[in-house]
Amino acid sequence: MIDETDILRLSAISPRAESGIKRIVSNLLNPTERPTDEFVGHTALLIAQHKEMLKDPDRVAATVSTIFTIMFDTLIYSPRANQGELYELLALTTHMPILDNNHVSQKMLGILCNYLESGPLSTAFYAKLQRLCIYMEISHFEAAKSLIVEIQEDLDKQSFESQVLFRVCKLRLLDHQNNKRQKFIEYLSLIVDVLWESGPDAAIFVLLSWFCQVNYLKNSKYYEMILGSVYKNLKNKPGLNMVTAGYALFNLDDHRIDVNTKNSIYRTLLAYGGDFMGSMHLHRLHLYAGQNSEFDAVNFYHSVQSFKDSNVHIQRCWEKVIKMSAFLRQHCSPLEYKISMVFLENKVTELSNQNTVRNELFVENIRNNYQKIEYLYNEVDELSLTDALTGLKNRRFMDNNLMQIFALIARHRTQITFAMMDIDWFKKVNDKYGHSAGDQVLRDLAEIFTNFFRKSDIIIRYGGEEFLAILFDVGEKSEELLEGLREKIQKKSFIYEDKTIKITISIGWRLSLISDHVGFELIDKYINEADKALYRAKNEGRNRVVKYVEDKA
Ligand code: GH3
Ligand code: MG
Ligand code: MG
Repeated sequence: MIDETDILRLSAISPRAESGIKRIVSNLLNPTERPTDEFVGHTALLIAQHKEMLKDPDRVAATVSTIFTIMFDTLIYSPRANQGELYELLALTTHMPILDNNHVSQKMLGILCNYLESGPLSTAFYAKLQRLCIYMEISHFEAAKSLIVEIQEDLDKQSFESQVLFRVCKLRLLDHQNNKRQKFIEYLSLIVDVLWESGPDAAIFVLLSWFCQVNYLKNSKYYEMILGSVYKNLKNKPGLNMVTAGYALFNLDDHRIDVNTKNSIYRTLLAYGGDFMGSMHLHRLHLYAGQNSEFDAVNFYHSVQSFKDSNVHIQRCWEKVIKMSAFLRQHCSPLEYKISMVFLENKVTELSNQNTVRNELFVENIRNNYQKIEYLYNEVDELSLTDALTGLKNRRFMDNNLMQIFALIARHRTQITFAMMDIDWFKKVNDKYGHSAGDQVLRDLAEIFTNFFRKSDIIIRYGGEEFLAILFDVGEKSEELLEGLREKIQKKSFIYEDKTIKITISIGWRLSLISDHVGFELIDKYINEADKALYRAKNEGRNRVVKYVEDKA
C-alpha cells in the first residue's frame, strides 16, 4: 500500500488540497451509482483546477503525482469485483498488430473472437484496428488520425470490449497531439467505464498506460516512486499490470533505479511476463540478462543462452516488420502503401541498429568472460601439481609433497635412489625436427618412464628435458636398472609424423638412506649430488649412467 507519509513526501501540495483530491477521486472511482459523462467531465475540471492554479512546474508535477497516487490507490484497493475477459483482452494491445500465429496471439484471438462475433462488420473493424496499430508502431501518425475518424463512425455497433481496445489505441495517439485537456477527460471516462463494466484490474491497466505517457512526470522522481509502489503492490499478482509497471521500472536509466531492484525485476518479468510483452521488450530483457550474469560457469552458460534468446526475439521483430508490410499492402491503397513504406524503413533502420548493439554487447560479453576464463585457467595451472605436456608430476609437487612422503617412509629406514636423467643434445632434436617433434619426444619419453618404473616411484619433470626419478628400495641394483633404461631408450625409435627420431639419455644417480629427520636441505643435497653425477656423465661423453661418488677433496 502506498504509505501515507510517502504521499506527503511527494506532494508539494497542502494536506487540505490533497484531501480535496481524495474526495473527488473517491466520488469518481468509488461511487454507488455509475457516474454520468457530465459527472466525469465535471470531475476532470475540478482536478484540473488543482494543477492549473500552480505556476511552478515542479509543483505541478507533484500535484499530478498525488492525483495519480490517489487514483492508483483507490483502484488497487477498490471493492469492486473483476468480471469478464477485458483484462486478458487488453494484453492484446501490447501485442498489436497481431500478425503471427504464436500461442499468445492464438489465446488472445480466441478471446477476441467471442467479442467480434465474426460478422463482416467486426472483421472489418478488427482489420482497421490492426492497421491503426501498425501506423502507431511505425509512427505514421497522419494516417492513424484519419483512420481513427473512420473507425469512430461505426464504433457504436461494436462490443464494449472492442470499443475499449480502440479507445486505448486512440488515447495513445492523442499523446502525440497536444490536446491535454481532451486526453485528460477521455482517460478519466475510459477508466470509469472500464471499472464499471469490467472491474479494477482492467482499469488499473488503463491508468498505467496513461501514467506512463505523461511526459513531464517521466523525468521527475515521482515517476519511479509511483511505479515502484504500484509494482510492489502488484508483485504477487503476475499479470498484465504487474508486467507493465515492472517493465517501465526496468526501462529507467541506470541512475534512477538501483541495480538490485532492476535485477530482481528482470528476473520476475522473464519468469512471468512472456505473455504480456512484445518481442522488442523481451529482446531487451534477454539482452540485459546476457550482459548481467555474474561470472561463473553456470551463469556464463545462462548468459550465452540469454543472448541467444534475445536474438530469437529480435528475429520476431524482423518477421513482424515483414508482416506489417504485407498487411498494409493487402489493406491499403497503393498510394497509401507507398507512403507507409517510408515509415516502415525507419523501423528497419531501428532494428538494424538493435542488431548491431546486440552483436557488440555479445562480443564484449564473450571477450570479458574469455579473459576471466583465461585468468582462471592460469590460476588452475599454477595450482596444478602435474606437468601439462607430459602428465608427470612437476616441481611444485615436489615442493608440496616430497617432505610428507619421506616422513612416512622414514620409519621404515628406506633406501632411496635419486636419479637425474637428461636427454642428450636435445636442442638439436628441436633444431632438426621442430619444437612440436621435440614435444612429442618428451611425451613419449614420459610414457616410457611411467611404464618402466614402479607405480610407487616418483617421476618428476624437473626441467625442460630433465627428469628426476625417486625410487624406493632398489638399492645397489639401481645401476643395473638405470642402465637398462638407458639402453631401452637408445634402441627406441620415436616417431613424429613420418619422421623417426633417435635420442639417448644421460643419468646421474645416488643412493641414500632416509631415516628420521629428513629436511629440505638434505633432500636438496641428494638431488644436487645426483645432478653432479649427471654432469659427469655428460662430460664423459653422454649416453651413460654415472653413480655419484663423494668428492675426496
Ligand atoms: P645436453 O646433452 O648438454 O643436455 O644438450 P641439450 O641440447 O639437451 O641441452 P640444452 O640445455 O643446451 O638444451 C635443452 C633443450 O631442451 C633446449 C630446449 O629448447 C629444449 N626443451 C626444453 N623444454 C622443452 C619442451 O618442453 N619442448 C621442447 N620441444 N623442447 C624443450
Ligand atoms: Mg639435455
Ligand atoms: Mg638439460
